[in-house]
Amino acid sequence: MPFVNGKEMLEHARQNGYGIGAFSAHNAETIQAILEAAQEEQSPIMIQVGQKVIQNIGLEPMKVLIDSLAKNVTIPIAIHLDHSRQFEQTMEAVQVGFQSVMFDGSALSFDRNIAITKKVVEIARALGIGSEGEIGKIGGTEDDITVDEKDALITTTDEAVAFVEATDVDYLAVSIGTAHGIYKETPKLRFERLKEIVDAVKRPIVLHGGSDVPDEQVQRAISLGVAKINVDTELRQAFTRGVQSAFQDDLNNIVLADTLGEGREYMKRKVQEKIRVFGSAGRASELMNVKKVVTL
Ligand SMILES: [Zn+2]
Repeated sequence: MPFVNGKEMLEHARQNGYGIGAFSAHNAETIQAILEAAQEEQSPIMIQVGQKVIQNIGLEPMKVLIDSLAKNVTIPIAIHLDHSRQFEQTMEAVQVGFQSVMFDGSALSFDRNIAITKKVVEIARALGIGSEGEIGKIGGTEDDITVDEKDALITTTDEAVAFVEATDVDYLAVSIGTAHGIYKETPKLRFERLKEIVDAVKRPIVLHGGSDVPDEQVQRAISLGVAKINVDTELRQAFTRGVQSAFQDDLNNIVLADTLGEGREYMKRKVQEKIRVFGSAGRASELMNVKKVVTL
């Protein structure tokens, strides 16, 4: 189980011009789909545990499940907490041994966001865990939180610099034109702003709402300094289509291994596709050789 510090993983990606897919897991089959795809592609990955699955299954059970399913996997993995909006929950993830945590204070005042993120950074760093903060509001719906398009704010370079200086956060989620959920029209990323922010903050940038952003745009964003791309919606679509296709074959099939298994296959192929687009395929051994491996 080669679990690695999320910071070291993303720094390696940034320095070598590729992106890490942060894939959201929702149950055993989706964890398996992500692990199998990454193992076959020999790619380092992050597995994200989000708010919905925490409500549904629980934070610690998900961690235990991932640990258990990853036992025979040899590629570098970081288990990441996605969009935590409570300090207590972020600390629970630290406590149970996540390798990366996000505190999302983007809905709070700038000062409050800084104050809490700073505490998270200090504690996570002392324990060898990577930390992510967010500045600017990313539009769309994730879990139970919806940000209207009119409220989605493109991150300014000044606020990104001020936030990073005040918190020293390891990687930064910015709002540069992506949204959570399903896009109404093809997104157009704000590359100039991204470049300005990257040049100013000099640390890995995280792209949320990575589903359905055209491949060329994602690759260009990676070339400019995006090192972590969150993908959830497209994976859930793939999984659901797989399950639907199993039912198309036999509407009365009650063998869950068949129906959920087909979902797992569809999702696995989608994860592989993303890994190739992000350029992380074949990078596993490189990262293992260069970086200190944290085994918890
Ligand atoms: Zn997000």
